[in-house]
Amino acid sequence: MVSTSPALASTADSCQYLPFVNSEAVLSPNQQLLPLTAAVTPDAHLSVGSCDVVDLVERFGTPLYILDDHTLRTACRQYRQGFERHYPGESLVLYASKAWSCMAVCAIVTDEGLGIDVVSAGELLTATEAGADRDRIYFHGNNKSAEELALAVEVGCRVVVDNWLELKTLGEIATQEGKTVPLLLRVTPGIECHTHDYIRTGHLDSKFGFDPDQIEAVFEFLVGQPQLNCLGVHAHIGSQIFELNPHTDLGGVMAQWIVTAQRYGLPLTELDVGGGLGIRYTEADDPPSIETWVKTVCASVVAACKAQNLPLPRLLCEPGRSLIGPACVTAYRVGSQKVIPGLRTYVSVDGGMSDNPRPITYQSVYRALVANRMTAPLDKTVTLAGKHCESGDILIKDAALPELKSGDVVTIAGTGAYNYSMASNYNRVPRPAAVLVSGGNACLIIRRETLVDLLRQDCLPETLRPKVKST
Ligand SMILES: *Cc1c(COP(=O)(O)O)cnc(C)c1O
Repeated sequence: MVSTSPALASTADSCQYLPFVNSEAVLSPNQQLLPLTAAVTPDAHLSVGSCDVVDLVERFGTPLYILDDHTLRTACRQYRQGFERHYPGESLVLYASKAWSCMAVCAIVTDEGLGIDVVSAGELLTATEAGADRDRIYFHGNNKSAEELALAVEVGCRVVVDNWLELKTLGEIATQEGKTVPLLLRVTPGIECHTHDYIRTGHLDSKFGFDPDQIEAVFEFLVGQPQLNCLGVHAHIGSQIFELNPHTDLGGVMAQWIVTAQRYGLPLTELDVGGGLGIRYTEADDPPSIETWVKTVCASVVAACKAQNLPLPRLLCEPGRSLIGPACVTAYRVGSQKVIPGLRTYVSVDGGMSDNPRPITYQSVYRALVANRMTAPLDKTVTLAGKHCESGDILIKDAALPELKSGDVVTIAGTGAYNYSMASNYNRVPRPAAVLVSGGNACLIIRRETLVDLLRQDCLPETLRPKVKST
């Protein structure tokens, strides 16, 4: 249950940014523009996790990722409890850690009873170091190296096998090590999602997973490889999905694969439907709630198993964006402005594509607010630009904001997913710090990179070393 306190809600009423919901209803984090604890203080500052954002940036600097513990944990619980309510069999929610892989986030989701999906040795290490349980780690990816596969076998996590090369390499490693490797098979389901519609095809032009045509050959191969313990099947149909139909269809498609496996004497007990639930980046976005998504997935799998006379498998899903995306905001300081009369006003902030590459990469749209003047009227339309040497480094085109001055704290909402994890050092800009906020406390979860950090991997050959100039 989340509600804004009456005092804060009345301040918020006069604030045009925030569609605050002042009710006892259970809020789905992915349907909110801001973290669930977002509020406006009496002096019209934004607060998150009961921490004043203006204080946070004074203490930790900018740009700053501000992660709200309560919103992340609420999303975890809504997924987990949704499965407990709507699925009569066993279930496990995995966090797709590529959305934001760091030890603190992995530790929080582990504490909430989730497993973790990793796609590289680096993400695997982050998850294990954060205390994730080995048999709740699922290793994905379409081109895992032999070293990564060997590491997966050594760690004892589950491998989501994507292709023949991997299947054969994994079989060899398992034999050499004298180990049995638990695995899922990733299959392309022929369901492709765009944001607002989807297509069903026999084959899909995707780099991920076995073509459905191949599945019988794979099962036949597995029958002769007792060191490879195929537990189930996996499919992931896309990301930032607002429709429910694709997931309704997916249950039926995947149950059919389990039936096929039975014919080869392989009793599959796990079914992983992937992630993909969308979030609200702007007022225009209207995703279904976590509860509705989970209910749809469960109903689809239960109905498909009943129709095929299958025992209920252990049902897994692996959301990334909808778990972490709404839990974070990024705060920047406003710097220079360029007014082009009759055309556009550019307002530059002290970050940009290096801390949030989604606008330049995917033309993603975000919502901004001014954390130090939350009740100021939104009477200007400006373009929020990053500081990088790239004309396309625009965070938000045509943002409705108040008149901005240098030093204002502009804050962008919904930056928890695919921001820090895709951050770069473009232009040799150090990557920002991240803080975790909860109940008025803020603690550092990612240290801000320093200029010295930027030189850490550089090697300067002897012959290139600066000569001491003779005078
Ligand atoms: C990216 C990805 C996810 C998570 O997707 P979201 O849209 O962030 O929920 C889950 N599973 C796989 C295999 C993925 O590639």
